[in-house]
Amino acid sequence: MKTVIHPYKEISLNAAQYIAEFGGKHDTRWTDKRRPATRCPACYEPMKLVGEDRPVHDQFFSHIGNSSEQPVFCPLRTSTTDFRYAFLRDSPHDSSVGEAIKRSFFKNWTKHFSMIRKHLDGMFDVQQFIQLIHLGNESRLWNRGNLSEWEIPYVFLVWQDYPPIKDKRTGKYVRREWYKFWFDYRVRTLEDIWIRTQGKPRIIRATYSIPRDGSSPGIDQLRDTKVFDLNESFLALSYEPKIHDYVKNCMAREFPNFIP
Ligand SMILES: [Zn+2]
Repeated sequence: MKTVIHPYKEISLNAAQYIAEFGGKHDTRWTDKRRPATRCPACYEPMKLVGEDRPVHDQFFSHIGNSSEQPVFCPLRTSTTDFRYAFLRDSPHDSSVGEAIKRSFFKNWTKHFSMIRKHLDGMFDVQQFIQLIHLGNESRLWNRGNLSEWEIPYVFLVWQDYPPIKDKRTGKYVRREWYKFWFDYRVRTLEDIWIRTQGKPRIIRATYSIPRDGSSPGIDQLRDTKVFDLNESFLALSYEPKIHDYVKNCMAREFPNFIP
């Protein structure tokens, strides 16, 4: 991956910034000096810079560590199909708190939609949003004891892959990369959000190139990462996001009991 976490600070950095701060591998002044390892945005394990003798676009950071050891679980080391976030346990069917969260979610649905769209560079298909809401119903997301409404877009982001998008008319790619969102290593099941992170997981957008064989991408296709700060207060803002009428109509047709 191209972007990792600084060795000592909670900031992202790329290969050029790393070399600028800690010196190059063959820098005469630094020949015998070991540079500090950067850290993986998802598992915080040490990473090394690979390909420093090659052109910049071939340089990337890789986890340090022997594959024979038992590595720390890192979502960025999996393929996008071998690991899915789910709830481990069922939650009660009828919870008045859950019902209230669901009603409130629909009242605020345009803010939730726009929050997810922001993480996807402005490209989010309403049909994906609808599928995610159905998945929320099936897994009784709304009834989870610790759920706060602002967390819903983040759970939605990690639930689906966002494959490359082509323009339907021209057949050209609008986005060539495959996006997948991951929580940090502390979250293995969705309950862990509240148990192991006290509701403060890190969320990472991983960018993958498309595998040649057409399968789902994994570590070999991982190109870059971006860490997002959780926004706990977006529902409190008084703005009304701009949503296309087509999207509004699809939502009203799909959920007539919730959206007037
Ligand atoms: Zn990692």
